[in-house]
Amino acid sequence: MARYVDAVCRQCRREGQKLFLKGDRCYSDKCSIVRRAYPPGQHGQGRKKNSEYGLQLREKQKTRRYYGVLESQFEKYFDMAAKAKGVTGENLLRILESRMDNVVYRLGFAMSRPEARQLVGHGHFTVNGHKLNIPSALIKTGDVVALRARSRDIDKIKTSLENNAARVPPKWLDFDRDAFTAKVIGVPERDDIDLPVEEHLIVELYSK
Ligand code: SF4
Repeated sequence: MARYVDAVCRQCRREGQKLFLKGDRCYSDKCSIVRRAYPPGQHGQGRKKNSEYGLQLREKQKTRRYYGVLESQFEKYFDMAAKAKGVTGENLLRILESRMDNVVYRLGFAMSRPEARQLVGHGHFTVNGHKLNIPSALIKTGDVVALRARSRDIDKIKTSLENNAARVPPKWLDFDRDAFTAKVIGVPERDDIDLPVEEHLIVELYSK
């Protein structure tokens, strides 16, 4: 378990900012990036400034890690984004935001995206009345995401909802807290995505 915690926190230290992958720990003084605000590894404290390519690469890795997406899947998302109408970088973020695990996290059912992924994988949610246990499923306008009735008493979920009670879900999600249900009423716009990501750097990286 300890090894797993370290590995996750190393990702934040590598990117130089909090990725909020560990739930409560991220908000405490146990957060690794608070205690060791330099990249991991033997040469972490002596690292030189990034090249242009390095900056683009780091932006891509950071974004991938925020959403917990593997490289191959991230490339598929980029291809989808490039083929869609509109600005490729924004399309990419829109696709990532639409993942089922991210929706569950945004609604406050989980304290982190990895936790949300686990809850989805364990089949605690339905979409349009049908159980959906695929964290990468893309949710679209008109879908209704709900916590299953039998999962409403799970301590971890109840605690997350309490801790996140003050958090306002993005405006594309119409959340009925009392009914544990949310309707998707739009698509995520760039303003709705509060992550410090410069998506144009990712587009530049893949355009090389
Ligand atoms: Fe670890 Fe969370 Fe801190 Fe990142 S933000 S270093 S995941 S505790």
